[in-house]
Amino acid sequence: MRTRFAPAPTGHLHLGHVLNAEIVWGAARLLNAAVLLRIEDHDRTRSRKTFETSILDDLDWLGFRPDIFPTSTFRSGRCEGRQSDRAAHYEAAAGRLRASGLLYACGCSRKDLSGGPRSTGGEIVYSGACRDRKLPLDGAVGWRVRIEPGRERFDDLCLGRQTQDPAGQCGDVLVRDRLGNWTYQFAVTVDDWLQDVDLVIRGADLLESTGRQIRLARLLGRAEPPRFLHHPLIMKSAKQKLSKSDGDTGIRDLRARGTTPEQVLAMARTAASRLI
Ligand code: GLU
Repeated sequence: MRTRFAPAPTGHLHLGHVLNAEIVWGAARLLNAAVLLRIEDHDRTRSRKTFETSILDDLDWLGFRPDIFPTSTFRSGRCEGRQSDRAAHYEAAAGRLRASGLLYACGCSRKDLSGGPRSTGGEIVYSGACRDRKLPLDGAVGWRVRIEPGRERFDDLCLGRQTQDPAGQCGDVLVRDRLGNWTYQFAVTVDDWLQDVDLVIRGADLLESTGRQIRLARLLGRAEPPRFLHHPLIMKSAKQKLSKSDGDTGIRDLRARGTTPEQVLAMARTAASRLI
């Protein structure tokens, strides 16, 4: 089995990441699975090299050692664990969707979309306005994949049976944005598939993404989707998630104040025990 830890270098690690890492490495130990490290810097506008370095430093300091793509492989240059070094894979995967007639160019701006319909969860549902416009794919356009109505069912290892209808939740999924950034949904689906990840362990804030990732994986040709485990998140308050900019739970700041790795791990475990 293979699982992964997949932070985005858009900020420093915080206690929520440590909790996720504890569960990922803990499950891997129990299941004799390998852990792959992936730096999810698909969004070139928000990702920073300094955050990548800080994430690698904190993982080393905390003692989380990836089996696949150890931190040293990122430090020494190009690395297949880093999304910005994997453009050729995304191009090829998008080419497959194009060849099946599922990919189309979308000229809608953020503003065009924000006034449109919303799912019951409050998410923007793409109306399909550009589906049949046959805009060329090589302009300053987004790329979308056609998502037909239909349910995806999966047994979450923590939350139990789930049913999602991606067409009703978000409509046609954006694969690449107008600036040429591969989207999270697309990059993560391609990576989990091509990197043979068969167990995805992540926070429950990503639960709504799972049905569409299962669908996308099938459209790309993945035979079996991975299994999923979505765990509770450490919250800042009843409604607010921890964010990478929260100094009070940032690993950097805890380190600077003289907290030891053991104490940080204990803090994550204590926060976790309050969630159950
Ligand atoms: N890169 C995402 C994050 O940092 C995690 C994505 C995933 O686990 O699928 O929140």
